[in-house]
Amino acid sequence: MAATLLQGDKLASQIKDALRKDIEDLKAKGVRPHLVAVQVGENAASRVYIRQQQKACEEIGIAYELKELPDSTTQDEVLSFIEQLNQDQAVTGIILMMPLPKDLDAREVQMKISPDKDVEGMHPANMGRLIYGEMGLAPCTAHAAVELLKSTGVELKGKEVVVVGHSEIVGKPLALMLLSSQMDSPTPTVCHIATRDLTSHTKRADIVFVAVGKPGLIKADMVKDGVVVIDIGINRVPVTDASGNPVLNEKGKPKKKTVGDVDFETVKEKASVITPVPGGVGPMTTTMLLYNTVESAKRIAARK
Ligand code: NAD
Repeated sequence: MAATLLQGDKLASQIKDALRKDIEDLKAKGVRPHLVAVQVGENAASRVYIRQQQKACEEIGIAYELKELPDSTTQDEVLSFIEQLNQDQAVTGIILMMPLPKDLDAREVQMKISPDKDVEGMHPANMGRLIYGEMGLAPCTAHAAVELLKSTGVELKGKEVVVVGHSEIVGKPLALMLLSSQMDSPTPTVCHIATRDLTSHTKRADIVFVAVGKPGLIKADMVKDGVVVIDIGINRVPVTDASGNPVLNEKGKPKKKTVGDVDFETVKEKASVITPVPGGVGPMTTTMLLYNTVESAKRIAARK
């Protein structure tokens, strides 16, 4: 039997409705969430994210501002720019657009962002809070994946959960969130590039999260019947015709489509619940950025 599709937009719109109310409450306290995106140098890919973020913010009443610094900006100049934003009372959240020019130390800049304005949840103070089960300003994608799982209502107590991928931005924080007592005590296992026998782990999992960046990594014979699959991967792959030849677009270039890390067509026949890519975790990730932006504004309002 084919799986139930777990789409992100319905949950995303419920969360956005709740955020609109929070923003009204903040307004009454004289605080307007105000997110500043910092872009150093030019990067075509981050332009797409900036447009998406701006649209999403403005839709629910968050002020969004893009600050652009030239490619030639030094490490000290970026750090002092971030410090000015940290001190600026009108700015409630800061997001650093990646990648930075290669001569800059991105981690040092990221850590310079005040933990209270760290809407990406990447500051060590916010990562550290995950150990205590505090998800107030958690990394957006990991938080999005957890919220999607919670929305299924699937019983988590005693369940085996396998997270494939152990990056700082997704896999590791996701595993920490799953260990929180708020998650009803499933048992997470984290797999990665050096895991000896990935299938032995995924095959016994009740729930599989995948965040790797390899299309088709998880195949039907690697999961058990009735598994819940949350596919976080985003990959651009060529579109092919029935004979496997690349399909060209109107400019004569190979047409591309977005897929996840899971072999969706076959795994969906075994799974009980599965997220599509696109349309699953993706819409929720932007929503968790909005959630964090409102959360950081609440922290600032609480100090007023
Ligand atoms: P990353 O490159 O930092 O980490 C990849 C992880 O996969 C590593 O832990 C690595 O050990 C593991 N890995 C690599 N090959 C493996 C294999 N063969 N078997 C098991 N594990 C393997 O990537 P990331 O930043 O965590 O992103 C992962 C994927 O999630 C990417 O496709 C990225 O585009 C996507 N992503 C999606 C969203 C979203 O909003 N849906 C947000 C962030 C990242």
